[in-house]
Amino acid sequence: MPDVHAKLSASGAKRWLSCPPSVKLEEEFNEEPSIYAEEGTYAHALAEIKLRLALGQIKKKEYEKLVRALEKEYENFHNQSLVEYVEAYVGKVQEFFAEAKAHTSDAVIELEQRVDFSRWVPEGFGTSDVVIIAEGVLHIIDLKFGQGVRVDAEDNPQLKLYALGAYEAFDMLYDIQQVKMTIIQPRLDHISSSELVIEDLLEWGENYVKPRADLAFNGEGEFAPGEHCRFCKAKAVCKARAEKQLELMKYNFESPDSFTDDELGILLKDIGKLLDWAKDVSDYMYEQATQHGRHFEGWKLVEGRSTRKYTDTIVVAKALKDAGYKEAVIYEKNLLTITAMEKVIGKKAFNEIVGHLIEKPQGKPVLVPIEDKRTEISTVKAIKESF
Ligand code: SF4
Repeated sequence: MPDVHAKLSASGAKRWLSCPPSVKLEEEFNEEPSIYAEEGTYAHALAEIKLRLALGQIKKKEYEKLVRALEKEYENFHNQSLVEYVEAYVGKVQEFFAEAKAHTSDAVIELEQRVDFSRWVPEGFGTSDVVIIAEGVLHIIDLKFGQGVRVDAEDNPQLKLYALGAYEAFDMLYDIQQVKMTIIQPRLDHISSSELVIEDLLEWGENYVKPRADLAFNGEGEFAPGEHCRFCKAKAVCKARAEKQLELMKYNFESPDSFTDDELGILLKDIGKLLDWAKDVSDYMYEQATQHGRHFEGWKLVEGRSTRKYTDTIVVAKALKDAGYKEAVIYEKNLLTITAMEKVIGKKAFNEIVGHLIEKPQGKPVLVPIEDKRTEISTVKAIKESF
């Protein structure tokens, strides 16, 4: 669940640990509610009650009542596909707990555990989705319901902060030696785990987190643009980020008139970053102009192009039928898209009923940075065949 009130939230830790003054700069911006955040909140709440039922913490009757209330509250987000992804997550958590219990019957599981890591981060707290403790291992499990960005557990500051908070809460009761952190991202079918010994976690908290958190809390420190800017609310107006983007383009190219292939390779990578930055600036200005009436030097709002539309489809259809046109002529029947169909009937039913009728044609070649995990198409013949 989101760490709604923490100034230095665990979910934003990658950013404020890398760029401490971003916290102060972000204060000027309001938290805009997003449909993704709402969908995530629904998925988390549903996952929690499904787990409580599975663990015997609530009875079936209470579970059904809670599910009905949730479905009503989040009716815009409720669909079979979401339920199946949540169930996949719940199943995986149960597997982890069963595994822990197989080693020791003393294994414990806590859901929605509030974790306080203020020993390292001023006023720092959060909520860990699942904490399992067994045989000296503290296991933090986090559900990520997004599918835009794949998130890994390795060196993940959010999970490490949760681990510090959970260690604070349970250290008096259990002899914790090791920390395991897992991210389950069901919509990407992605599970990622990482482990470290408790001494390394505490050392990270004391020597890396604490000094940076103090700077961030006090609005001090050096601006440090990087990948983390993507999630910064000030990314459109931050001068440090702008300077970094413009700096990228100051190359000393060797050839006087035209770029070499190597130079083009370098250029295209930075053009991508420049375009991202330009879009952030443009989106921000548009939102400010349309939502808050702000004016920007040299820019104005005008009416954009629009397309014609029927004022009332039923009345239009009647008029056409009255004029003698047959239904087969004026209507077209389309099957839902694959994604929409999966959403409506659920992935499981979709695969059972029509899974064998789905084909995935070869994708058109795309030029991507060398770090991309996909295998390179190596021959000109293979490239031509794929068109
Ligand atoms: S945009 Fe980047 S550099 Fe600027 S404040 Fe945000 S995180 Fe820091």
